[in-house]
Amino acid sequence: MPRVGVLALQGDVREHVAMLEGIGCEVVRVRHAEELDDLAALVLPGGESTTIARLLTTSNIKEPLASKIADGLSVLGTCAGLILLSSEVLDGRDDQWSYGAIDVAVRRNGYGRQIASFETPIDVKDVGTVPGVFIRAPKIETWSSAVEVLATHDHGDGEHPVLVRQANVWGCSFHPELTIDDRVHRLFVESI
Ligand code: GLN
Repeated sequence: MPRVGVLALQGDVREHVAMLEGIGCEVVRVRHAEELDDLAALVLPGGESTTIARLLTTSNIKEPLASKIADGLSVLGTCAGLILLSSEVLDGRDDQWSYGAIDVAVRRNGYGRQIASFETPIDVKDVGTVPGVFIRAPKIETWSSAVEVLATHDHGDGEHPVLVRQANVWGCSFHPELTIDDRVHRLFVESI
């Protein structure tokens, strides 16, 4: 099975590690740039995008990871991880940067604050219905034709993508790692 990294600077690292190990991957917790070498894929967890961005800079992982993504490394970002991969962040901090690897504009906390967290069934293309856990989730407000939409959700304001893919880079607004349903992780790992 593939060797998959989980960026382990902040956020729900343990949950992603458990899910990936559960489907048979060899998992590496990435805290230093050298640990990006020899990975088949990398997961950017949910957490706090501003904190993860700051730690990516101070740990000197930011630039090496940008090169790996450009070279075709498969990456899955969930929630804060999606924000980090997006081309535009709305309601971000003034100094908030992102990799621009998925051509979407995401609004931070676009589904509401912590108290507005919710769980809803999500129909994923070629997979079926999975539980969607949304916690201060980013809302994808605009997306280009380069973005493949694998699932959408209507939160009362029309269908918005919640699972997307652009070539080797995947983004998910919700948290599949916080459930016992491993099919989104399997779908990603099968694409590697
Ligand atoms: N709203 C958070 C952020 O901006 C993301 C929330 C999450 O990952 N659960 O980083």
